[in-house]
Amino acid sequence: MNDVIVIGGGIAGLATARELLRQGAHVTILERNRCGEESSWAGGGILSPLLPWDYSDPVTQLTQWSNRLYPGFIQALHMETGIDPEFHASGMLVLPGFSNGPEEVARQDARHRIAEAWCAQHDLAMRMVRSHEIAPALALDEPALWLPEVCQVRNPRLLQALVLAVEMNGGTIIEHAEVTSWKIAQERIQSVATSRGEEYAAASYIVTAGAWSRQLLREYALKLDIWPVRGQILLFKAQPGLLGTIVLQEPDNFYLIPRRDGYILAGSTVEEVAFDKHTTAHVRKELLEKAHRLVPALTEEMLAGHWAGLRPGSPGNIPVIDSHPFVTNLYLNSGHYRYGVTMAPGSARLVSNMILNKPQPLDVTPYRWPA
Ligand SMILES: Cc1cc2nc3c(=O)[nH]c(=O)nc-3n(C[C@H](O)[C@H](O)[C@H](O)COP(=O)(O)OP(=O)(O)OC[C@H]3O[C@@H](n4cnc5c(N)ncnc54)[C@H](O)[C@@H]3O)c2cc1C
Repeated sequence: MNDVIVIGGGIAGLATARELLRQGAHVTILERNRCGEESSWAGGGILSPLLPWDYSDPVTQLTQWSNRLYPGFIQALHMETGIDPEFHASGMLVLPGFSNGPEEVARQDARHRIAEAWCAQHDLAMRMVRSHEIAPALALDEPALWLPEVCQVRNPRLLQALVLAVEMNGGTIIEHAEVTSWKIAQERIQSVATSRGEEYAAASYIVTAGAWSRQLLREYALKLDIWPVRGQILLFKAQPGLLGTIVLQEPDNFYLIPRRDGYILAGSTVEEVAFDKHTTAHVRKELLEKAHRLVPALTEEMLAGHWAGLRPGSPGNIPVIDSHPFVTNLYLNSGHYRYGVTMAPGSARLVSNMILNKPQPLDVTPYRWPA
């Protein structure tokens, strides 16, 4: 019998499987399609909340702890697998937006003071700059906030590295195996059935099915509130070096993320359209216009891709990382909403500690399963 079955092979499932394997468990991942092809693939890979001072303490606690784990997490994966997830501190430049009437300027000043106080309290470097100091390709040279320590990762590569690391460390990955039902007796899952017609049994089961977690759990979801939130992204192929930093524009939080080889991601939308993962022509136009207005060198001819992913939305962007209130061998690590890549190593460590009865490094009560 396997020690642990992980249901869903996105970043939450893969990072959890890796952590459990590191700690000596036997792990099987059951994935409905192929690992790492849903939200985790579609995301931007910024390793920070967009404007961290706008979030509650549970989000800050988990993202900051994950940020501390990230360098070691990446270094080990890179060394083991030879795949470079391109983790680096590209920094993030926060622009105030286009309107600059007196009321808007006063509002921006107040926002800057909040940001400054938050960064000082949380030990995050921040300084006021002119935007052209950091990003000369921008259309406007205006006052901006510069957060030089914000990191990014190339998520498709991180996912490839995780898949390989799980396999290299003895984990089993079974793809095209959608979990469709389970047998429960004496408040324990006895086995799960999949679309392949096979049953799998383990001592513990972790649901990491992203936006699909609540549907999968059905009546066992209890008061769990996780829903799909579509995000669309455009990809430009630009000259390497056109942009050296992530640029984020308030108030609608439009961002550009430059990769080392010149690709630039522009996104993203926040749309509640149930499980519809299509891209739309009007969003393509809107993102293209925003990108061109911000960096005039970005033009339609440079477009190289357009995709959408379904984030696992959650109230306050706070994931649930907990055991089920009465099914004693069922756990959940899901609902990371906009920050699942950022939160991956920390969340994986927390849920693994729960299963292996290890002490927790931080207060896990904010991540409880709502019953
Ligand atoms: C456009 C966009 C931009 C983003 N940008 C960022 C960012 O910059 N930084 C950041 O930190 N986060 C970002 N995110 C959020 C982040 O991508 C998500 O929070 C994260 O990917 C969630 O990971 P997950 O593993 O829970 O879900 P997923 O990656 O969706 O994985 C869930 C997996 O479960 C599988 N599954 C579902 N049901 C079943 C079943 N019944 N049986 C078996 N398998 C099943 C699915 O096939 C899927 O592979 C972004 C997301 C989007 C869409």
